[in-house]
Amino acid sequence: MADKISMSADGVLQVPAEPIIPFIEGDGTGVDIWPAARLVLDAAALKHGHSVAWKEVLAGEKAFKETGEWLPAETVEAFRDHLIGIKGPLTTPIGGGIRSLNVALRQILDLYVCLRPVRWFEGVPSPVRHPEKVDMVIFRENTEDVYAGLELQEGTEDAKKLLEFLRESFGWQIRPDSGIGVKPVSITGSKRLIRAAIEYALKHRRKSVTLVHKGNIQKYTEGAFRGWGYDLVRDEFSDVAVGWEDCGGEPADKLLVKDAIADITLQQVLTRPDEFDVIATTNLNGDYLSDALAAQVGGIGIAPGGNVNYVTGHGVFEATHGTAPKYAGQDKVNPGSVLLSGVLMFEHIGWQDAADGIVRALEQTIAEKIVTYDFARLMEGARQVRCSEFAAAVVDRL
Ligand code: NAP
Repeated sequence: MADKISMSADGVLQVPAEPIIPFIEGDGTGVDIWPAARLVLDAAALKHGHSVAWKEVLAGEKAFKETGEWLPAETVEAFRDHLIGIKGPLTTPIGGGIRSLNVALRQILDLYVCLRPVRWFEGVPSPVRHPEKVDMVIFRENTEDVYAGLELQEGTEDAKKLLEFLRESFGWQIRPDSGIGVKPVSITGSKRLIRAAIEYALKHRRKSVTLVHKGNIQKYTEGAFRGWGYDLVRDEFSDVAVGWEDCGGEPADKLLVKDAIADITLQQVLTRPDEFDVIATTNLNGDYLSDALAAQVGGIGIAPGGNVNYVTGHGVFEATHGTAPKYAGQDKVNPGSVLLSGVLMFEHIGWQDAADGIVRALEQTIAEKIVTYDFARLMEGARQVRCSEFAAAVVDRL
């Protein structure tokens, strides 16, 4: 019988045989990619003795048309109550109301990890020579740094007030025609993010976690993030992990936690990608890194994502691209991003067998050059298929 996923007192997800999972179809191309992804997810689940009771909830344009609200309270409640859900892309409403529906969901459920695995699938066109060397999982902090959204517009009374305060109290001489942004990075926010990355690395037998920061310039935010990370390793993980500072890069049989400055990281993920594995980073660095890395594996159209709170168990998995309105309803675009987000969700709830099955079938489909338009235009000898046909081809190969 269908039932809700829950969290046990000791922090372990309890997944019933037939979990109820809320989904948001998504605006624009959501009508194409979600049914395609669902077809594959259901077939893979069934093959491995699982089954999902999908529960549609509304957000975005569809919600606005039916309820007059962009993000109805019922939808937030459904995600809160069922812990795990998945969503297609949503239009960002222009002018007033909610800044972004995605950001709103992340904030309301305190989804502090933006999880972005980046790997190459055989056959996917890539701009680099060895995309197969990229296999990283990015843990991007999702609630503070620039995402805290603390900004004052240049020339406003509030900006003037703050500039005056900073001059009087700290002697900071800031140009009077400046806009001001405040960037908080806390011990709480940093440690819970880095803890999640280390636990993930241990669970998935990854070899290292790299703390990516800009601590050479911003010592008390970015630099502190690095320092708190190393403290955490010493305080909570000393039996299974060790910081570079404490082992000189020789971790023996423990997980190595190291650090790298953000600008150098952007070079090295390109020149020496096999030296990076799990990455834990602050919000803005993570933003740049996730998209740069996705491009490196040719995966901007198929990059998956998840927003997770590992303490409460909440997770919203989502397509990382937008609604691509010009293609909406044409059964044309690549369903890979939302499908692989579903794979990430299956892994998260412990259905590794079904997740692995989808990845294998997807790889085989692309290797056979059966692809949607976006890959077809970059591949020689490809057979271009529709969104739904691509999904059917993956199902055939499960
Ligand atoms: P977009 O929807 O991501 O589309 C940009 C381009 O990316 C498309 O024109 C297309 O490239 C390619 N693309 C997107 N989805 C694809 C898919 N499934 N398969 C293959 N190619 C795909 O970005 P946008 O046009 O800037 O944004 C449109 C709307 O989406 C806005 O309202 C924005 O706020 C929203 N948005 C939502 C999310 C989210 O919900 N997570 C994220 C970003 C943006 P080609 O034209 O080259 O074929």
